[in-house]
Amino acid sequence: MSKHIMIVDDSKTVRNLISFIVKKEGFHVTKAEDGLDALEKIYSMPGIDLIITDINMPRMDGFTFIKNLREQEKFRDTPVIILSTEGQEKDIQLGLDFGANLYMVKPAQPDSLLKNIRMLLG
Ligand SMILES: [Mg+2]
Repeated sequence: MSKHIMIVDDSKTVRNLISFIVKKEGFHVTKAEDGLDALEKIYSMPGIDLIITDINMPRMDGFTFIKNLREQEKFRDTPVIILSTEGQEKDIQLGLDFGANLYMVKPAQPDSLLKNIRMLLG
């Protein structure tokens, strides 16, 4: 069965671009437009294999989203990739402290993104 990836970004352009890249590789995709939308969607799903999330989003940012996610047993080990325009060391450290597995800076090269996805999915 193909793996299911959630893409969380307030930019429709980014959501669609990342979705296109991963769908082409056969992954299933669910899109969410901010952290709150992502949490609402994830609760009504049987499971998710990997999450790609932005940081700067309205209503709920990526850090808060990951924090909420990690507080639940079910999503404690779900691989999370942060994909953000913020590339400063403090943002990267914060992202990893909140529980992200990887931090990538936009614009991500499709090959690098897919390589990291495969690595995290084992
Ligand atoms: Mg954003």
